[in-house]
Amino acid sequence: MPNLPEINTPFMLEFLSALINTPSPTGFTEAAIQLTEATLKAFPALRLGRTRKGALTATWRADQDEPGRALTAHTDTLGGMVKEIKPNGRLKLSRIGNFVWNTIEGEGCTVFTRAGRQVRGSILLTKASSHIFSSEVGGLARGEDTLEIRLDARTLSESETCELGVGVGDFVAFDPRLEMNAGFVRARHLDDKAGVAVLVAAVKALSDAGRKPARTTTLLVSNYEEVGHGAAAGLPAEVEELLVVDMAAVGEGQNSDEFHASLCVKDSGGPYHHEMSDRLRALAEKNEIPYKVDIYPHYGSDGEAWWKAGANAAVALIGPGVDASHNYERTHTEALLATTRWVMAYLLER
Ligand SMILES: [Zn+2]
Repeated sequence: MPNLPEINTPFMLEFLSALINTPSPTGFTEAAIQLTEATLKAFPALRLGRTRKGALTATWRADQDEPGRALTAHTDTLGGMVKEIKPNGRLKLSRIGNFVWNTIEGEGCTVFTRAGRQVRGSILLTKASSHIFSSEVGGLARGEDTLEIRLDARTLSESETCELGVGVGDFVAFDPRLEMNAGFVRARHLDDKAGVAVLVAAVKALSDAGRKPARTTTLLVSNYEEVGHGAAAGLPAEVEELLVVDMAAVGEGQNSDEFHASLCVKDSGGPYHHEMSDRLRALAEKNEIPYKVDIYPHYGSDGEAWWKAGANAAVALIGPGVDASHNYERTHTEALLATTRWVMAYLLER
């Protein structure tokens, strides 16, 4: 019989929206970590901490203090860094994380200067005007040499841009362009802010219902996943298994969709832990949680980062289906709720 607490959907979507609107490219995640920390502070059963890398940990003690489970989701996202200031005053961009250049063309962005100033701008082709460059606009391959940041500031030279306080190494965040319509959540960076929102929603639902995990559990909100080493450090050594909550890849040939939670049984790093994955399937079935099983062809996770760092533990991966990942992403509230229910079922399992 399903016996899971009710999820506060408005709370989940409000937190997700606030998190999505808090820029956090990998390496510049402090504001997003602080927002998550402030939200989790409302639950006194959690003991909050930080890793030296700046990730957030939250430990929830069970009645019998057996070691230990962990869940992780990452709050860092794709983004960029100012690579150089060009003679025309525009900026060349260095990528943070793996994305295809085409996917950021035309996007609004914010440059965070060293002095704490935020300068707005947009990412455009170096030959952007159709009236000047005609067929070249369509034909030019998109890349670091053909896309640039045009700042919303009066600058036509390197020195004028420098006077704005902009410099090499400044972080650049892409506008998430969040919209919620008809149950859909459309935004950049649902990978993996949707996963963080799922963890926070599960904590709230269990807390509000006066429940707690069956085993002592550590949540790790990691902050370097997009560059491959997020959860490599930060989890207690006594953790015996890790459930990674990260997006499911939706698209042609995939089993996953925007309305289900998915269990990833294999990705670029190979198979996940079979017995743990199988237990998760049984839990979903027992609790009537709609789920899909899938393989993600070009995908790595914080679970693999931890395994590769030497973790001796079981690792499995679930997450909401996200369409057009590392692009202008979209999921549906149904997938977020299904994933949250799955996380709760896992936490409550003996
Ligand atoms: Zn991710």
